[in-house]
Amino acid sequence: MIISLEKDISDEKINIISNYFKKKGNETVETSGSDGAIIIVLGNTKDIPHDEVFELPGVKEIHRLNETYTLISREFDNKTRIIEVKNIKIGTNEPVFMAGPCSVESEDQIVKIAKEIKKAGAQILRGGAYKPRTYPYSFQGLGLLGLKFLDKARQTTDIPIITESTGLHRHIFEGKEEEKDTLSNVLNYADIIQIGARNMKSYGFLEEIAKRTKDKKTPILLKRGESATIDEFLGAAEYIVKNGNPNVILCLRGIRGIEPTKYLRYATDIDAIAVIKRISNLPVIFDPSHSSGDRNLVIQISLAAIAAGADGLIIEVHYDPDNAASDAKETVTPDVLKEIIEKSKKIKEIISK
Ligand code: PEP
Ligand code: MN
Repeated sequence: MIISLEKDISDEKINIISNYFKKKGNETVETSGSDGAIIIVLGNTKDIPHDEVFELPGVKEIHRLNETYTLISREFDNKTRIIEVKNIKIGTNEPVFMAGPCSVESEDQIVKIAKEIKKAGAQILRGGAYKPRTYPYSFQGLGLLGLKFLDKARQTTDIPIITESTGLHRHIFEGKEEEKDTLSNVLNYADIIQIGARNMKSYGFLEEIAKRTKDKKTPILLKRGESATIDEFLGAAEYIVKNGNPNVILCLRGIRGIEPTKYLRYATDIDAIAVIKRISNLPVIFDPSHSSGDRNLVIQISLAAIAAGADGLIIEVHYDPDNAASDAKETVTPDVLKEIIEKSKKIKEIISK
């Protein structure tokens, strides 16, 4: 619910309104709308009588909103949220390209790839230091060392980095355990923090990340869970925004489909780009690598996602895709990345006319 307030409303009246909702169990946020001061009432307000609210002092108008995700809805704010990382803007007419290996493998590997993706036209380097792997025997990522290598690649190329936090737990690699919880390590290094598909529904984790980034407002790229509905995905984003970090980038990466993985790893949810952009004001980017699971499909899917209105792409790239430590099958070369970027820009130009 949004309540428009009378001009120059006193603090005393605002307190009366807030206390009224507090007693009903609803939190309120006071802010300014296009027509002056407003109070946003969060949570379920269905049983709150309209008449009673109208009688509170200083209330001018009442709007009912979507109550499962309020803060990220277009009803609440129709302007697309533009998220800035260094001097890059995500959510404008210019698509943004994030690229790099699935996992950081060594300093040489990530520095070399960073240079190549920059040359191909990408603006942000991706690379996992903590990897959420399906099987415990798979490569688990280099952990803190991987973050240090990413930092080196950032210093060498001057491009920001996106890397995943897999949770609050400790990381064990080659028998060695890291001292601190791994989230604080990621917070110390990442320009954008990725929350992967597997963690989209870890609500305590979403709240914790939001609280720990409340001051710096480090952008968070939230991936859609592989079996999450659009409502569940947006609900997860609302958790982060409600807990203090409004800088959320939504990322679609395919959902469980009916095809065997020899054809498609996931079902590419390109249609969801348009649906989400209609409902939410957050930027939406697409991941053609995980959604297809096949490097031969990455170009077509990338271009289709841009045509459907994606604000950018996140693509797995390696100079030696066959020998990538994880997700080799879906990894493309820097040359393919270059082709995707050039063609995407042309498509974006046509569709934004
Ligand atoms: C990744 O980006 O490498 C990754 C593990 O992604 P997802 O969470 O989409 O599976
Ligand atoms: Mn991957």
